[in-house]
Amino acid sequence: MTLPEVGTARPSPSADVLAVDDLRLEVRGPVFAAGDEGLAAEVATWNTAVTHTPAVAVGAVCAADVVAAVRFATAQGLPVAVQATGHGPVRNADGAVLVTTQRMQGVRIDPERRTARVEAGVKWATVLAAAAQHGLVGLCGSSSDVGVVGYTLGGGLGPLGRRFGFAADSVLEVEIVTADGELRTVTAESDPELFWAVRGGKGSFGVVTALEFRLYAVPALVGGGLFFAGRDAAAVLHAYRTWAPTLPEEASSSVAVLRLPPLETLPPPLRGRTVVHLRFLYSGDDPAAAALLEPMRGAGEVLLGGAEPLPPTALDAVHMDPTDPMPGWEKGMLLADLTAETVDALLAAAGPDVQVPLVMVELRQLGGALARPAPVPDAVAGRHAAWSVFVVGPMVPGLTEVVPHVGRGVLAALQPWAAPGAIVNLLGDVSGPDEVLAAWDDAAAGRLLAVKRSVDPGDVFSGGHALRAGSGA
Ligand SMILES: Cc1cc2nc3c(=O)[nH]c(=O)nc-3n(C[C@H](O)[C@H](O)[C@H](O)COP(=O)(O)OP(=O)(O)OC[C@H]3O[C@@H](n4cnc5c(N)ncnc54)[C@H](O)[C@@H]3O)c2cc1C
Repeated sequence: MTLPEVGTARPSPSADVLAVDDLRLEVRGPVFAAGDEGLAAEVATWNTAVTHTPAVAVGAVCAADVVAAVRFATAQGLPVAVQATGHGPVRNADGAVLVTTQRMQGVRIDPERRTARVEAGVKWATVLAAAAQHGLVGLCGSSSDVGVVGYTLGGGLGPLGRRFGFAADSVLEVEIVTADGELRTVTAESDPELFWAVRGGKGSFGVVTALEFRLYAVPALVGGGLFFAGRDAAAVLHAYRTWAPTLPEEASSSVAVLRLPPLETLPPPLRGRTVVHLRFLYSGDDPAAAALLEPMRGAGEVLLGGAEPLPPTALDAVHMDPTDPMPGWEKGMLLADLTAETVDALLAAAGPDVQVPLVMVELRQLGGALARPAPVPDAVAGRHAAWSVFVVGPMVPGLTEVVPHVGRGVLAALQPWAAPGAIVNLLGDVSGPDEVLAAWDDAAAGRLLAVKRSVDPGDVFSGGHALRAGSGA
């Protein structure tokens, strides 16, 4: 086999060379075809368990570039995938036209209307910093390194969610390139069905080039985490299960059994240890937060941590998610209830006394505004559940078969308490589009498929967790 010369355009067999050259002339951003130097760096993922090998990558700098990329793909008969940060790649966009949006960094805050308009490549850290200048905050998730658009389209479950709802609930306008190559501005008035579907239905309907959404004025935030010794896991988790439901909607919580690697970057008390990490955020003053957290402080030996007043730009301190790229397997489920038996089942499957190759088994408290419909109803799945469970394991050599098997086993152990459906952003590893569709109840699934058939009947957008037009037919 003759390898193409480095640095020259060599599209995959499925993309026409001349058409790729035309595309290069048409778009302002860079275009990389299979074999080009720079392709691998352009499409690199944060979750390195997935490597993208697209036929063509289009480094879009503006909505017009996205339009050109989608029209090119449909003319070539190729599917379209999209990547902003690579935090949620799900699977290889092999042979597709992969639109990379990291150059689309526009952010505009309107302090009067309390809104943000952000382009497709923006991460939450940028929005939090820009909004904080006006005393406002957006509904980010556990890590501000995640992309605003991908996160929000998948619902967007964050530490302010019990007070203000899912991030998708706050979206006011969606700018999207659909399979017909048209750039549409979609609002509740202009296209109610697509507006409903894209807020929660994620990447199934097109490439979103910009979102406008509400920001909130929250005068004070207090948050952080307590790391408990793993040997106290049973006491801490049982205390948590009775304590969390007593919290007001202004407070959110989650708890995770973490098996931390022996990394120098971790504080010494945590290095290489199994710990239980309680995460807490309260929108209100410090004394009230301290009073709320107090009952948990004595639940076990605290190795490290605490809660303190946080500027919105420091919200990452609540979950302390990893920031370096890593190969991860992940999968989530929902619980209707967290009983003493649920906790015992979780401990038996993944507690510190069992050997499991999992980095994290997490419970997040739902409820509050997360359980109420959005001001303009949307397709966010999982509202009805009381708890979200999320399991993450390392996809490193020697463990790539074991981790999914063990991870699924932990979730299976919690099935007796399962609620139907899923948080779309936390779906993780799925067997196929039908399992994605099962995230929604029958009525919402049928409505989503009707929108899919109307705007993308040919499944141009079939990457990630996209729905298929033919599903359920
Ligand atoms: C460390 C970490 C913490 C997380 N915390 C949370 C959390 O607290 N709450 C939560 O809800 N989720 C959370 N997630 C999940 C995250 O929201 C999803 O993985 C999300 O899809 C990431 O979007 P991205 O653009 O950053 O990633 P990418 O890998 O770039 O994109 C993932 C998918 O998002 C969609 N997408 C991205 N951009 C566009 C676009 N312009 N148009 C259409 N579709 C698009 C596509 O389906 C794409 O396949 C977390 C993930 C990680 C890795």
